[in-house]
Amino acid sequence: MSGPARIAAGDPRYEDFVVRGDNARFPPRPDAFVLARSTEDVVRTVQEAVRAGQRIAVRSGGHCYEDFVSDPTVRVVIDLAAMDRVGFDAERQAFAVEPGVRLMDLYRALYLGWGVTVPGGASELVGIGGHLLGGGYGPLSRRFGACSDHLYAVEVVVVDADGRARAVVATRDPADPNHDLWWAHTGAGGGNFGVVTRYWLRSPGAEGGPGDLLPRPPASVLASSTVFPREGLTREALRALVGGHGRWHERNSAPDSPYAGLFSGLVLFAVAPQDDPGIGAILFNHLDGTGADAEELLARAVREMTGDVDAPRYDMPVERAPWLSTMVKLARAQDGESGRHKIKSAYLRRGYTDAQIDTIHDHLWGDGHAFSSATISLQSYGCAANAVAPDATATAQRDSVLRALYLTSWADPSTDEANLDWTRRLYRDVYAATGGVPLPDDRNDGCYINFPDVDMADPRWNASGTPWQYLYFKDNHPRLQQIKKRWDPLTVFSHALSVQ
Ligand SMILES: Cc1cc2nc3c(=O)[nH]c(=O)nc-3n(C[C@H](O)[C@H](O)[C@H](O)COP(=O)(O)OP(=O)(O)OC[C@H]3O[C@@H](n4cnc5c(N)ncnc54)[C@H](O)[C@@H]3O)c2cc1C
Repeated sequence: MSGPARIAAGDPRYEDFVVRGDNARFPPRPDAFVLARSTEDVVRTVQEAVRAGQRIAVRSGGHCYEDFVSDPTVRVVIDLAAMDRVGFDAERQAFAVEPGVRLMDLYRALYLGWGVTVPGGASELVGIGGHLLGGGYGPLSRRFGACSDHLYAVEVVVVDADGRARAVVATRDPADPNHDLWWAHTGAGGGNFGVVTRYWLRSPGAEGGPGDLLPRPPASVLASSTVFPREGLTREALRALVGGHGRWHERNSAPDSPYAGLFSGLVLFAVAPQDDPGIGAILFNHLDGTGADAEELLARAVREMTGDVDAPRYDMPVERAPWLSTMVKLARAQDGESGRHKIKSAYLRRGYTDAQIDTIHDHLWGDGHAFSSATISLQSYGCAANAVAPDATATAQRDSVLRALYLTSWADPSTDEANLDWTRRLYRDVYAATGGVPLPDDRNDGCYINFPDVDMADPRWNASGTPWQYLYFKDNHPRLQQIKKRWDPLTVFSHALSVQ
């Protein structure tokens, strides 16, 4: 096998490496990209960079929402796109997965090959490399937990106190001397401790053949969607819609809920100046279609979520489709447009209050802005994801029922400030009662590190007095710091929201 390819500025391929990432706000321009093909390639590249005193960053799918890889002080970007193999490791009795594989390609390999999967997000673009490290969730998380809940072991290239790079394997086994390194890779986000060169996936307690060692997705999925035109969504109607969706999740998100097989997304669309009022909201629901009462369960859920909404609506015909094709369709919808992005997130223990919903209404549909698209998505969480103790893995948020994500996208760089300002004010005002952030309390539970937002470290936007680390890591932060001290003593790996 040949060694890594080094692509320096001036190489005809360089610009393609620059634009491989998703967020056009942050094109990385290091001295060189190094396309690694093996663990040895990564060890060698890390070693050379450390010796030369060059700052490094690693990228798998390239879909980070902040500048963690593209910070201008980064001199070498290790690109793992070519490390994308998926196979079954009979010795470890686990699926060996390289970090460069994209989520949908991973699902195709696992499901078509063995009938299994992991409960991550639907995307053709996102790499498992960054996704799993932040926890990773998707339509099956209410049934099977976070993606990282199925991590059995991880191979990481770390740098010792004497500057020596080496690959270590850390497992879920509590007797493993490297167990703390495994733990740190179950929800603290990427770019913290070293370069992950391989994951081994096996569900806790699973035994048997390969087809028994990871979750089996349902053979079919029932999908419904309801469209609400913007013009009908008065303040009262939006209260009923967002409030109804939130209350439904409060009632139906215990680990033993009959609705563990349901994944719901309520997407609220801001109206861009160039658009007609158009669509105000889409509610979609995906339910495990294999139960005898699936049709009735789905119809009841939609009725309960939307029964109080007095507004025009269009209910699309319910569709039944095989699981993998439903994921492909969802990925197409989620991958959306390329361009410049700002994202913010929140874990919700309870749905939004009427005051918060009014704030959302007034910002989405009453404010001046320049984006090409801006949405607030409220996505199901809870059930199995909440059956794990907050300190059992690095994913601390274990009793939320929804996640909110605020995503603004635009094309014109000259409107960066206007779009950032609009997004920041929206979010700050929604969380006006808690210092502009979803401060952990009886309603909120902080932020999601896979949707990172550097504003949480900026006192202009986080006026809560609570450090950003608590919003993302909560009580797991001190342990993460200890692990950082042990495994990255020279702080070779860091970014704006890394463990320090
Ligand atoms: C279109 C889109 C859809 C999404 N949908 C979902 C979803 O449904 N559910 C969800 O949970 N999240 C979702 N996300 C968020 C996604 O999980 C994160 O953006 C994730 O971090 C991206 O991983 P990546 O490998 O593509 O990105 P990268 O930019 O390659 O990496 C992200 C971070 O992880 C670090 N990193 C990457 N690889 C490694 C490695 N091998 N070792 C150590 N550190 C590493 C990077 O240095 C960087 O800090 C979505 C994002 C996008 C853009």
